[in-house]
Formats: sequence, C-alpha cells, structure tokens
Amino acid sequence: MPSKRRIAILGATGSIGQNALRVIRAHSDQLELVAAAGGSRIAPLAAIAQEFQLRQVGVFEPPIPPGELHGSFPAQTQVVTGMQGLIEIATHPDVDMVLIAVVGTTALLPCIEAIRAKKDIALASKEILVMAGEFIMPMVREHGVQLLPTDSEHNAIFQCLRDEPLRTVEKVLLTASGGRYLNTPVEQLASIPAEEAVLHPNWSMGQKISIDSSTMANKGLEVIEARWLFGLQPEQIEVVIHPQSIVHSMVQFRDGSLIAQLSPPNMSFAIQHCLLYPERACGIDATLDFSQCLTLEFQPPDQDRFPCLRLAFDALRLGHTAPAIFNAANEIAVSAFVEKRIGFLDIPRVIEFTLENLPILKPANIETIIETDQEARRISHQWTVS
Ligand code: NAD
Ligand code: MG
Repeated sequence: MPSKRRIAILGATGSIGQNALRVIRAHSDQLELVAAAGGSRIAPLAAIAQEFQLRQVGVFEPPIPPGELHGSFPAQTQVVTGMQGLIEIATHPDVDMVLIAVVGTTALLPCIEAIRAKKDIALASKEILVMAGEFIMPMVREHGVQLLPTDSEHNAIFQCLRDEPLRTVEKVLLTASGGRYLNTPVEQLASIPAEEAVLHPNWSMGQKISIDSSTMANKGLEVIEARWLFGLQPEQIEVVIHPQSIVHSMVQFRDGSLIAQLSPPNMSFAIQHCLLYPERACGIDATLDFSQCLTLEFQPPDQDRFPCLRLAFDALRLGHTAPAIFNAANEIAVSAFVEKRIGFLDIPRVIEFTLENLPILKPANIETIIETDQEARRISHQWTVS
C-alpha cells in the first residue's frame, strides 16, 4: 500500500467498531482513522476522537443540544449529527474506505452515498444488503468500488472464492454455531428471557445480532446477504451447524473440492482482512493451536427448532420485497422481545405474519424498498402490541 489507507467507521463504539479500532492501532503504519460515528454515547466517541485526532465525528442522536456538543470533543474535530452527519462522514473527501457497523439498516443511505462518492466499503451491517442488495450491488459495479464483506462467514467465502469464476461454484456452505439453544428441549424455548438469549456461547457481539443468533434469524439474514454478495441462486446456499465457530464458511466447487477458511471466533481476523485488503499483515489475536486436540463437528440445521431460518429461505426464494419484509419484521420483533412485550417463540410468528400480510412486489427503485420497510415495521409492530 503506497500511503496510509484512510478509514471512517460508522458504529465505532460498538462491538465491530471496537475491534476495528484495535486493528487500526496495531497497523497504524498502514491505516489511519480520520472520522467516526456512533449512536448517542458521547464519552466513548470523545475518547476515540482524542486518541485518533479525528477530523470529523458523528453523533446520530445527541443527548444534548447539537450546538453544545463541540465542548465534549477536541478543538480540531468537526462534530456532525443525525443522518446528514452520517452521510457527511461516509463521503468525507479525506476518506478512502468506510467500515459500516451500525445495527440494522440505519446506515443504508450513508452506504449508498459512500458508494456514489467512490469510497470502498467494508460492510458489517448485513441488514443493508438483505434490504436493498438488488440496488446496491449494481451501484458497486457502476462506481467501480470494492465492497468487502466483514461478516465472518462472507469474509470466509470471499477468501475461499478468490478469483474463481462463479460458474465453477457448486454451492456455498455457511456455517452457524447454532447459538445458545442448539440442544435446549423445544418446550423450554417459549420461556427464554432476553437477558439469557443475548449471551452467545462463542462470540462477543452487540445485543441485536446476539439475539438473532439465538433464533438463527442471523443465519437467515446471512443467507440472503450471500445471495447478493456473490451472485448465487437460492439453491446454491446451504447452512451447516458447526458449534465450534472455527470454520467460518466453505465453498464447494463443481469438481467436488471444498475450500474452507478457519480462524478462532474473533472478528478481528475478518475486519483486518477488509481494512488492509489485499495486503496481509500480522494478525492481532491468537491463532489456532494445532498442538492441542481440536474437534470440529458439523450437522444439518433443524428447521423446526429454528423457524426464522426457514422463513429467511422462504423470503429468499420469494425474492422482490420479501427479504426487506423479513428483515424489518425481525428487527421489530427483536425490539419487542428485548422490551419483554413478546416471547422468544413469537419472533418467528411476527415475521411470518408480516410476510403473509404484505404483498410481495418487484421493487421499482430504492424508494419502493424503503416504503416496504416502513410498512412492514408498522404491521409487525401492530402484532407485538395486539
Ligand atoms: P453493537 O450494538 O455492538 O454496536 C452498534 C454500533 O452502532 C454502536 O457504535 C452504536 O453506537 C452505533 N449506532 C447505533 N445506532 C446508530 C446510528 N443511528 N448512527 C450511528 N451509529 C449508530 O453492534 P455490533 O455487534 O457491532 O453489530 C454492528 C453490525 O455488524 C450489525 O449489523 C451486525 O449484524 C454486524 N455484525 C456484527 C458482528 C459482531 O461480531 N458483533 C459480526 C458480524 C456482523
Ligand atoms: Mg456472521
């Protein structure tokens, strides 16, 4: 890399964001953080602005009047707010690559504007492609930018594929830990509390993705994301339960060879791969240790135990607006579950109800998708309060 790659992070205070900061610190000879945004917590953002001497910082929902924010940040750091602020950061003239790591689809418009401004994208927010992959992927090609998958499974597939042509790919196998409830008796699932569902056995992650992992809606979202990232047909995507979370995904080629990517369950590997791509530098976390016994298990998923996964495949096959509806309904259902308004097993019920009560249409443009998202949120919210 001739000069430092200049990075902006949307979601810098979250689980992915914090791991990305560790990568940037360790590779400060090659990477420079120039701008960052977070939700509403000022203190951690101010610490990041101070440490990295940021040019711009974004507070999406400031807890104090925007005019009073600058007092919390270093003098040379420009403070921006709201959606316009996220877009300014994502399109900042001094930024080469934007890491998008905000929960849900909040960063959809900043992502689109970053692509238009010819920024390379490292994408952790899988929900964005689930909602609007049909429109974002052609934009990526049109503007000649890199869209690097940061989700560990898609990063694994990206590494396994290298430059192999799509026609040589038989299928991809997305691995899934199976989450916390892989072996819990089904009759106990109804009474699972949110405080427990948020605890993942292998990964340390944000609240929403942890609950999505418990229901396997997360794997469903990833299946749909894989379709757009790699141009696959629904029948070319398979999910395999792999409780150790060491094989992050696999690609089976037409000749029967299967290529896998392995690393410990730690997001720093995938994040570093994206931020330094195509360079490979020293990793920052412990690697696999083959001097110890290492057992890797694989089993097919139980679709009855995990209806969210079946619903995601249904949405993928239905296509058009169905994946956006699946995503929006899941987001509303997870919020309602966290707020104790619905039970764990109601999450797939909300999704199914919403999919059944909205027409599945071919979206004319991104605005149609945004309207569908809003409508799906309204219908699923009604379910959770009725
Ligand atoms: P998190 O809850 O830990 O962090 C989310 C971050 O987004 C925080 O910095 C929060 O302040 C910020 N944020 C929230 N709303 C915002 C807004 N409107 N504008 C700007 N910032 C906002 O979440 P996470 O686990 O880091 O996940 C982030 C995304 O990455 C999700 O889409 C998730 O699916 C994906 N992802 C996460 C992991 C993981 O290991 N955590 C792995 C793969 C993919
Ligand atoms: Mg993942």
